[in-house]
Amino acid sequence: MLRMSSLFLRTLRDDPADAEVASHRLLVRAGYIRRAAPGGFTWLPLGWKVFQNVERVVREEMDRSGFQEVHFPALLPKEPYEATGRWADYGDNLFRLKDRRGNDFLLAPTHEEMFTLLVKDLYSSYKDLPVSIYQIQNKFRDEARPRAGLLRGREFVMKDAYSFGTSLEQLNVAYDAMYNAYCRIFERCGLKYLPVEAESGPIGGDASHEFMVPASNGEDFVIHCPACSYAANQERAETGRKSVLPTPVANAPAPALVPTPDAGSIEQVSKLLKSSPQAFIKTLIYKADGKPVAVLLRGDHTANEGKIRRAAKATSVELADEATILQVTTAPVGFAGPIGILCPCLIDHDVASINSAIVGANAKDAHLTGVIPGTHFPVTETFDLRNAEAEDPCPRCSDTLRMVHGIEVGHVFKLGTKYSVSMNACYVDAQEVSHPIIMGCYGIGVTRVVASIVETCHDENGIIWPLSVAPCSVMLIPLNVTDPEVMKVSERIYQELTDAGVDVLMDDRDQRPGFKFKDADLIGIPLRITIGGKGLAEGIAEVKWRGSAETVKPAIADTTAFVREQLAGKS
Ligand code: ATP
Ligand code: MG
Repeated sequence: MLRMSSLFLRTLRDDPADAEVASHRLLVRAGYIRRAAPGGFTWLPLGWKVFQNVERVVREEMDRSGFQEVHFPALLPKEPYEATGRWADYGDNLFRLKDRRGNDFLLAPTHEEMFTLLVKDLYSSYKDLPVSIYQIQNKFRDEARPRAGLLRGREFVMKDAYSFGTSLEQLNVAYDAMYNAYCRIFERCGLKYLPVEAESGPIGGDASHEFMVPASNGEDFVIHCPACSYAANQERAETGRKSVLPTPVANAPAPALVPTPDAGSIEQVSKLLKSSPQAFIKTLIYKADGKPVAVLLRGDHTANEGKIRRAAKATSVELADEATILQVTTAPVGFAGPIGILCPCLIDHDVASINSAIVGANAKDAHLTGVIPGTHFPVTETFDLRNAEAEDPCPRCSDTLRMVHGIEVGHVFKLGTKYSVSMNACYVDAQEVSHPIIMGCYGIGVTRVVASIVETCHDENGIIWPLSVAPCSVMLIPLNVTDPEVMKVSERIYQELTDAGVDVLMDDRDQRPGFKFKDADLIGIPLRITIGGKGLAEGIAEVKWRGSAETVKPAIADTTAFVREQLAGKS
């Protein structure tokens, strides 16, 4: 039984000063969370109910998929994380601490190491596998910019799951089970989501999906095709662009050398030459496995390192240092161009079709104009080297791609043997031969899911909870609590609904109706019943879904049955 008069709740009229996004603003204002530390939040009673509802959905679907729940400590010794290199690799993002004896500990950012060790500890035969386990646990990451409230905290709750098997087939079964479970989880939480192809990792191919909630405050970019539902994150997205090699132009005039003193950036040169970035060929110098290579892109496009790495057939690429740039262009940074450059060039598809380009002159303070690709420098092969963008052709169908902001709420990943090799977690097969266990890992940001729901389910007045995760299903508002008739009717409906198993919050505060309605909108409980005023005199109640303009007026005597019917229709 929940009554506003005694509920531990304080709604706020003003937005918290540090809140940048809607979910942070509304969850604080509506009394769901309070900031306790930078990147750390306390859940208040209504918020904790929502959190537990989301957690329950996650747990039910994990259990239903055959994953078994375990629970690790969050405070862990350094050694397992040293064995995999992550003690160092995590850099500043890891919370490191010491115990009284001076031993190193950490607050776990994820638990791959511990899950691997646990299975290694107990299982050793192919007959033991496959097995899949998970936990719902606090994670700690010293994020560079803890912002956006629950969307990116320094302490947050993650569901992390791991599958262990002896073959790619077993891995694929677990992966597909998780993929489908995630679809059910996000659907049940009332979230619109897109499973997007993400980095392929060690297994290659279709080895990783991120589950993205399209939202204007999302930090990630999702490229998708509304026609065929192709979706990928920007790191991974292909485009349907094709290689069209230019034919050399006979008797073309030579490029003109123009002075561009102190203008090393595309913006500066564009301004100086009254041109646009689309007329530029941008020449970026990379090192692919240590060897310099120039990457040519249209001026307004952005480089995609994964694509460059694959085109260069290299295992690693990085932007070249100043000394290398000087060596291959004989000029300082900012004046690289394809004509006369002293290293091989990788050319993006879109460069070939610029018919009069501006390029760096490989000389200090100078650019060349009127450059024709294929005429003034060779173009024998072109590649997809840049990030996909809206309006690019879809790689799967004939439509065009769109780009939306997204919040990553979950991630499924075919890990392969990365952790089993570094931690020596092996099984023996029927011939007594030892092999590393093949793993998958599957994460959901439970805390982030709560915030994502608010990001996508609110209006200017407050939150609009989906019924499945709402703190209560019904908000019951007696208009005038000093009127005994209003209270008699309200208490009766309250009791009837509670007896029927419906969660009701009654606003029994002695406040003006306008004040109560404002709070009801802010708090966002799905169904509102109002008792009192003229309606009560006529023997009717008012029932309204949060977010809908329509008010229904059942007879007082029918109100409980009507509300139960409404709720049943929505769940
Ligand atoms: P991001 O790219 O947003 O930093 P990530 O890829 O590092 O996330 P994972 O290691 O894949 O995150 O963690 C699994 C899930 O945990 C993510 O999909 C996300 O929902 C959630 N998550 C990660 N970092 C945070 C955070 N700082 N606060 C809240 N949730 C988080
Ligand atoms: Mg991720």
